[in-house]
Amino acid sequence: MGSEIARVGIIGAGQMGKGIAQVCAASGYTVALNDISDQRLAEAVADIDSTLQRQQERGQIDAAVRSAIVGRIGTSSSYDAFSDCDIVIEAASENEELKRKIFNQLCPVLRKDAIIASNTSSISITRLAASTDRPELFIGIHFMNPVPRMQLVELIRGIVTEDDTFEKSRSFIANLGKTITVSEDFPAFIVNRILLPMINEAIYTLYEGVGSVDSIDTAMRLGANHPMGPLQLADFIGLDTCLSVMQVLHEGLADSKYRPCPLLVKYVEAGWLGRKTQRGFYDYRSGAPVPTR
Ligand code: NAD
Repeated sequence: MGSEIARVGIIGAGQMGKGIAQVCAASGYTVALNDISDQRLAEAVADIDSTLQRQQERGQIDAAVRSAIVGRIGTSSSYDAFSDCDIVIEAASENEELKRKIFNQLCPVLRKDAIIASNTSSISITRLAASTDRPELFIGIHFMNPVPRMQLVELIRGIVTEDDTFEKSRSFIANLGKTITVSEDFPAFIVNRILLPMINEAIYTLYEGVGSVDSIDTAMRLGANHPMGPLQLADFIGLDTCLSVMQVLHEGLADSKYRPCPLLVKYVEAGWLGRKTQRGFYDYRSGAPVPTR
């Protein structure tokens, strides 16, 4: 490996954390994966293994590679496992207060020269960095979902991020085989600044009765050649994450065009968060997705 990073810590074993763990382990990094939920940790490792099993069945990897990848991932619900990490990537839920709390507990455990990265979709990297004891070693590394399949990673430096932190992170991501785009530290960076208002508008289109879930998604798939409809994509991202990103855009840019659609708020209040809870704009409980409106 060409970078100085060898041991990677990951906080949050949800959709993103498990994907990041998989690509890091597949590129030869040793991974310490953390979550507050032991169940999430067990599910994450089982999901990674079943993804690798499919790769094995397709002849893309052999059994030895599969077990080596899984073998490089250790799980723990304690931050002590991060004491020898070169970088820790925070991929917990999109909530600034929660992330600050995590950094508070994490910093005392880490080596003084360890880099902290956040996978936040929208929150200010400079502000998150300021809540740590090492803002110069803090950076935004924004992976896309699903991590193993998506080629892009946005790299975001805070005002205080040092060049060395940026270069080490850049070479680490290159070793994962990903392509980097650099974004300035503005709310939601590049991809979500453009993508989420489109999704929010699709939800307004549903809310105002312009079209049904099916007609909106069909319109954008066949009329704009998008691989997924915007409501299907919202379910895939997670409606709580979509709402958080819109709130950050709305508050951070103070423009009413970013107002989160009330229907999105309702779905989140109901706990219908999309695929991860089996219900969102579609109901996934019986296998084939059924529109909920
Ligand atoms: P998720 O809900 O699937 O997973 C979040 C995980 O964080 C859960 O397993 C939860 O148990 C865990 N968690 C909560 N508090 C914790 C704590 N104190 N310590 C350790 N773990 C904790 O969410 P996700 O989709 O994986 O998103 C995670 C982060 O990645 C968010 O910041 C999100 O904005 C960002 N992100 C999401 C996407 C996407 O499409 N979903 C894409 C890029 C970035």
